[in-house]
Amino acid sequence: MDLSAAQAVYELRDVIRVYREADVETIALRGIELTVMPGEFVVVMGRSGSGKSTLLNLLSGTDRPTAGRVSYRGLDLGRAEDERRATIRGREIGIVFQSQNLFGMLSMLENVMLAARLAGRSVSSAEAQQRLEAIGLGNRSRHRPSALSGGEQQRAAVAGVRAAEPKVLLADEITGELDSTSSAEVLRLVDETHRRDGTTVVLVTHDSAIAAYADRVVKLRDGRVVGGMALPV
Ligand code: ADP
Repeated sequence: MDLSAAQAVYELRDVIRVYREADVETIALRGIELTVMPGEFVVVMGRSGSGKSTLLNLLSGTDRPTAGRVSYRGLDLGRAEDERRATIRGREIGIVFQSQNLFGMLSMLENVMLAARLAGRSVSSAEAQQRLEAIGLGNRSRHRPSALSGGEQQRAAVAGVRAAEPKVLLADEITGELDSTSSAEVLRLVDETHRRDGTTVVLVTHDSAIAAYADRVVKLRDGRVVGGMALPV
């Protein structure tokens, strides 16, 4: 595919996000410029407080910029109606967080089905079972999440979102609570989703080791992009 001719998945132009709580103003993003092309795996790195979660909330359409433009596939997401944004989030964007992606009262099988539905596609219990088997958790389908390790839970959460075949996977510190072995397993699954399914991935982290998985690393500091580099693929 000729990337130069393809439409960007995201185009951010001079994006500013200011939080106002009581009398306190916090400028979380100070003029972000960012383009994400289809099929890219972009890692956004930065210390705690640099604006990563704020950026991800804008990309998912759960938040709007104070100024500037956040475009998603040509649509001005920041100014789109709530219903339109919810539809896009529900059909095209899959989101995985640091924790609590799964519901404690549901079985792993039910959780995979629900994660897929929330990311835009209903899957049968047979497909959910297959998805669990593909990540080595086929025999855990009746278990509650609390019976599994943090890494297993995160892999199931990614597998559930992947089952919906979203255009975009947004990941917010998804390995933040994991040891390095579990972390690598979760990242391998995200990497596979990117390579095999062609899913566009934006992953935010403060862990520089994760940069190795990226096509491109974007560094944030105090709400600004301070550096980016394309990595050899
Ligand atoms: P990161 O994800 O890199 O840790 P955040 O995007 O969470 O950074 O936060 C960026 C800045 O915005 C921080 O100074 C944080 O305290 C502030 N912030 C984040 N969310 C809110 C909020 N809801 N209200 C007020 N300030 C916030």
